[in-house]
Amino acid sequence: MFISQEVINQHLSKPIFSILSEAADDLGLETYLIGGFVRDIFLYRKSNDIDIVTVGSGIQLAKTVAKKLGKNVRITVFKNFGTAQIKYKQYELEFVGARKESYTHDSRNPIVEDGTIEDDQNRRDFTINALALCLNKDRFGQLVDPFNGMQDMEDLTLKTPLDPDITFSDDPLRMMRAIRFAAQLGFDISPDTFDAIERNKERINIISKERIVDELNKIMLSPMPSVGFILLEKTGLLDIIFPELIALKGAETKDGVGHKDNFYHTLVVLDNISKTSDNLWLRWAALLHDIGKPATKRWDPKLGWTFHNHDFVGHKMIPQIFRRMKLPLNEKMKYVQKVVAMHMRPMQLVEEEVTDSAIRRLLFEAGDDIDDLMKLCEADITSKNPNKVRRFLQNFKIVRQKLKEIEEKDRVRNFEPPIDGNEIMQLFDLGQTPLVGRLKSAIKDAILDGVIPNEYEAAYQFLMGKAAELGITPRENLLGNKDEKNDN
Ligand code: ATP
Repeated sequence: MFISQEVINQHLSKPIFSILSEAADDLGLETYLIGGFVRDIFLYRKSNDIDIVTVGSGIQLAKTVAKKLGKNVRITVFKNFGTAQIKYKQYELEFVGARKESYTHDSRNPIVEDGTIEDDQNRRDFTINALALCLNKDRFGQLVDPFNGMQDMEDLTLKTPLDPDITFSDDPLRMMRAIRFAAQLGFDISPDTFDAIERNKERINIISKERIVDELNKIMLSPMPSVGFILLEKTGLLDIIFPELIALKGAETKDGVGHKDNFYHTLVVLDNISKTSDNLWLRWAALLHDIGKPATKRWDPKLGWTFHNHDFVGHKMIPQIFRRMKLPLNEKMKYVQKVVAMHMRPMQLVEEEVTDSAIRRLLFEAGDDIDDLMKLCEADITSKNPNKVRRFLQNFKIVRQKLKEIEEKDRVRNFEPPIDGNEIMQLFDLGQTPLVGRLKSAIKDAILDGVIPNEYEAAYQFLMGKAAELGITPRENLLGNKDEKNDN
């Protein structure tokens, strides 16, 4: 790969690197930039996370650098790990002493000894992550590339520096990292490295769920997440970490009628949504939108393949998936559940007649998530028939237009009925009985169905009418009767 020394020098011309260089020379420590920061220079990716490795004490070097940087510097020392971190301006500098690692079978935490720069490069996960740039003045900007990482960079290939079976068995998280880098950077995994992942896939079980999901989220946020999921599937890792997705695979045929392969369909939807949204949780909703299909699949001689209620069943499956994968069980999960539960609604609306009241209900139930829901529905149109796609997209335009009109006119997104339960209790002198809920829903339904406008006075009149129908007397009248009695 031809990268002129000029590109390197240009990167290293920033004052921070002269300071690092001076500090290293003051202490007489052989020091390098290493890892993702160096790799990203050659990929023209901007990075402010700078890893520095020194043949000696990383902590001592960090302290010297911090002094040179002046007052507004935050240094954190992790004595147990022999590392230190400095936050300075936009940079996050990580300092570590060069080390040699050896692993035991049941842990990804190695036994660590001091080592040379070569030892340190040997312990790196991929050749492109083992590149080092010297910071000492006499070799400033010199590239140290013992594994031909620059060639792999040119070939867009991910390869381990040492025997991949050892690299992956030592720290199985590296298998997830390989796939994450493939998705993030658009690299291929070399055949030997790929085969070793297949052979070592079971070792993933020693990795914590948190670390796995961290990598999974990075795959989800990559430009084409399907690249990562297909690799996870092909290597056999997906079966171990996410069996619900594997259950989507396959296209069964009966009496000549087939259904689509929901795994590949899901991945197309995920890629589609990734073109229009960077929202991680909307991407999760896309990944899980059909997760209820395997459990609801039926063959009906008249209807063919059906997946009734897969939206509902899917939304029910999400908490157990999130819990197992150590994803957050908070409002993010609720949002994913909601979008999955509602993902058929706009499409059903298109298939029926687009009435104002159906639009109002959709707006009311989706609230502020309506735009995300519409994005997912559009991403969900993956038919290969161009006429069908054109027709769907055209219908969606109508739905979007109607949504806009109704929202402007009726303001039903996130609305609360103008008369709430407390007021109903007061008006009719009622306790907390189901009747209050019934009256409240009647008002809400009347607004959503367009029977009355979303206004207080109209709601009040409607409520009085409804109460009369049910034979409920307003408190005013009750009080009036009482007063009459007292007069007697
Ligand atoms: P990103 O910042 O996008 O996550 P990165 O390559 O900088 O990419 P980090 O996790 O910050 O990733 O790691 C920095 C460097 O440390 C890597 O480039 C690699 O050299 C090394 N490294 C990180 N994790 C491992 C690992 N599990 N096994 C071996 N080397 C690793």
